Amino acid sequence: MIELSHIRKNFGDLQVIDDISLKVKEGSVTALVGPSGGGKSTLLRCINLLEIPTSGTIRLGEAVIEFAPGKKVGWDAVQKIRRQTGMVFQNFQLFPHRTALENVMEGLVTVLKWPREKADARARELLTKVGMAHKIDAWPSTLSGGQQQRVAIARALAMSPRVLLCDEPTSALDPELATEVVEVLSKLAAEGTTMVIATHDLRLASRVADHAVFLEAGKVVEQGAADRVFGAPEHERTRRFVSSIS
Ligand code: ATP
Ligand code: MG
Repeated sequence: MIELSHIRKNFGDLQVIDDISLKVKEGSVTALVGPSGGGKSTLLRCINLLEIPTSGTIRLGEAVIEFAPGKKVGWDAVQKIRRQTGMVFQNFQLFPHRTALENVMEGLVTVLKWPREKADARARELLTKVGMAHKIDAWPSTLSGGQQQRVAIARALAMSPRVLLCDEPTSALDPELATEVVEVLSKLAAEGTTMVIATHDLRLASRVADHAVFLEAGKVVEQGAADRVFGAPEHERTRRFVSSIS
């Protein structure tokens, strides 16, 4: 459903993503793991074109875009890809002057032009799914980090994206609050939500992901079934990483 072929990303002379090819199946959860600076966030941001790849091809559903140095990427193409993705960030990034409910309704009302009543009903349904039905009218600043992240997940799901992209969704949270978020993501995974999650949190990765990709210095060192990559890594580098944080 998502296919990245030979993706490279340079920032000036620095090559951050070096010829990565990756397939994400519908209904699967892929964890991007590996040391800091390895390129996890950049790769994730290339999927929804928050970063424009330097070269390579991205296929997402019906949309196919080829990138090449100096080639302009049309706004239409960017929109086609963005429309199919939802993004969850490490630091939540809720709209501070909107309640939980209004945060989730925002895209439905402003982008999809849904009538408020319909958007309201959908937002309530999603907030219930992430266990936030009791905080519908709360302001983000009055919510715990785990609660804010759950609202952010509901907001990302509101537009019914084909894929949910999560960048370190638990990294800003205490272990207990991280657990709430892991529970929600694991429920979504069980319901068949396609996700790609960049994370340092091996507990999250091993609980939620079925496929794991170990990245270092912009390259895929190893990828495969998550159980196998975390339980019996083939590469010495992956083995050292897994044993250092578990
Ligand atoms: P972490 O585990 O710390 O989140 P990461 O694996 O997500 O790391 P990235 O954030 O993708 O790594 O960064 C990969 C490399 O790209 C790093 O060397 C980083 O400094 C560089 N980089 C990322 N964004 C930019 C940018 N906008 N301009 C220049 N260099 C960048
Ligand atoms: Mg990162």
